[in-house]
Amino acid sequence: MSFASLEGKTALVTGGSRGIGRAIALELGRAGATVVVGYRGGKDEAEAVAAEVGGRAIQADVADPDAAKALVEEAGDLDILVNNAGITRDGLLARMPDEDWRDVIETNLSAMFYTCRAVARPMMKKRGGSIVNISSIVGLHGNPGQTNYAAAKAGIIGFTKSLARELGSRGVRANVVAPGYVSTQLTDVLPDAAKAAMLAATPLGRLGDPKDIAGAVRFLCSDAASFITGEVLLVDGGLGM
Ligand code: NDP
Repeated sequence: MSFASLEGKTALVTGGSRGIGRAIALELGRAGATVVVGYRGGKDEAEAVAAEVGGRAIQADVADPDAAKALVEEAGDLDILVNNAGITRDGLLARMPDEDWRDVIETNLSAMFYTCRAVARPMMKKRGGSIVNISSIVGLHGNPGQTNYAAAKAGIIGFTKSLARELGSRGVRANVVAPGYVSTQLTDVLPDAAKAAMLAATPLGRLGDPKDIAGAVRFLCSDAASFITGEVLLVDGGLGM
């Protein structure tokens, strides 16, 4: 069996249709897991990812409590839950509409409350499971124009540490991966000057690739990380140290 093998385990990855979620779904599949790919609008992309790993794609808006619960139930007997779905609605605080605040909090933070609540009892019952929640370096350091996103991503950290304390005695682990700047549709919209500034502040001298995040998630999901819970793993090329 290879290092960080996930043979025999079933995983749900939200936002698995593209970007970081896609890379995570493919990596977990490569590690031997049976993968369920959650998506909202990207049906063709999600089905292509599922086909590549021999898994299934399920449509659900995870910001909707009923849809998130139904997604977890339909995904089946889960050993692994990766909450990756996320959005940005950037803008300065003084001009931020209520809707942009709520959309970002609902999609990035409330969604993982809905899915984790749905998975908690079954995982506790079988006395095992690994939950990985995707935060961001912005949740630790803040960023102008991202008060909504930073609040959601910082909330994920407190939420996950509390979850780790609640579920630890039943053998269920919960950890956070906090990526730095990774090249995806989410960050493609950033101005070139902002990208150049991030690059200059990153000791490893490059932007992240979705695969960089996927490897860290695979490790935390696996038994190789069996004594790690409540941890926040920065995967950021050194940007946030
Ligand atoms: P993308 O925009 O490329 O992908 C986002 C994914 O989330 C898509 O699969 C999208 O699905 C899904 N999604 C969005 N809203 C919902 C919803 N309501 N219900 C279900 N699925 C939804 O983003 P990234 O891959 O860059 O980001 C993935 C995660 O990593 C996010 O949580 C993000 O905050 C975080 N992150 C990203 C960083 C980066 O530099 N890229 C840095 C730090 C953190 P669909 O297309 O089907 O709508």
